Amino acid sequence: MTSRGTPGILAGLVRLVRPIRLVALVAPGLGLGLAGLPGDARAQLADPVRTGATTAGGEAPATRSEVPVRIALQAGHWRASEAPDELARLRSNGTMGGGRHEWEVTLEIARHAAGLLEARGYEVEILPTTIPPGYRADLFIAIHADGFHSPAASGFSVAAPRRDATGQGQAFADVLAGHYRAASGLRHRVATRRMQGYYAFNARRYRHALDPRTPAVILEAGFLTSPADREILFHAPDRLAQGIAAAVEEFLPLAPRLPNERPAVVPVATEPLTDR
Ligand SMILES: [Zn+2]
Repeated sequence: MTSRGTPGILAGLVRLVRPIRLVALVAPGLGLGLAGLPGDARAQLADPVRTGATTAGGEAPATRSEVPVRIALQAGHWRASEAPDELARLRSNGTMGGGRHEWEVTLEIARHAAGLLEARGYEVEILPTTIPPGYRADLFIAIHADGFHSPAASGFSVAAPRRDATGQGQAFADVLAGHYRAASGLRHRVATRRMQGYYAFNARRYRHALDPRTPAVILEAGFLTSPADREILFHAPDRLAQGIAAAVEEFLPLAPRLPNERPAVVPVATEPLTDR
């Protein structure tokens, strides 16, 4: 499994031509040149030549982009055996299809998406099954894959929490569904109530759940039990990741928008996320 292929990094470099402010991501005093590229995509952002283009337009800096925008991608069922006692039922679930476990597929999609997003300047964390108690991010996306007894079941679905204190989950779910459908070509299925009640969304019941201020969704990326869905789940996870990354960029753009652009959804986190 490759996590950050060279094509992804090159694509990221192309994207960096547009003006962005990534002040907090520039490590002071670190002489990071091209040598840092393969191992750490974020090192690109420390290149003063590229970040220097930022202020060329004389725009006032946007407050939000002074701090990293943190995107959490959860690889569904990854390291499930480490689930805490309150979530012991998760230790042995997850679907299988085509000889692969769900966690292998979700982790691969998450790694591709992380590579794309990091190259574009986001701070990305890939989370396993166990969520650190009170975990907070600017956006959380749980990635899963479905299974069914009939190979005819096919398609993806996206759900926001049933109880959503942020009020943003459904808006992002809609944005993600649009981009994911375009990227995957899969049918968009109606989300289930079970998805809306995902354990990570339920801080009232579980200690290992998200801070309720974190906008969150769960994506069922396709059916592992469908040969048609497996074609893309197994052979084009990078395309699926592009759908995810495009949705994040639309919902939480790093670059300040021009006055005639559609207004961005106001992000929750305007302060540094050091208190998580
Ligand atoms: Zn799952």
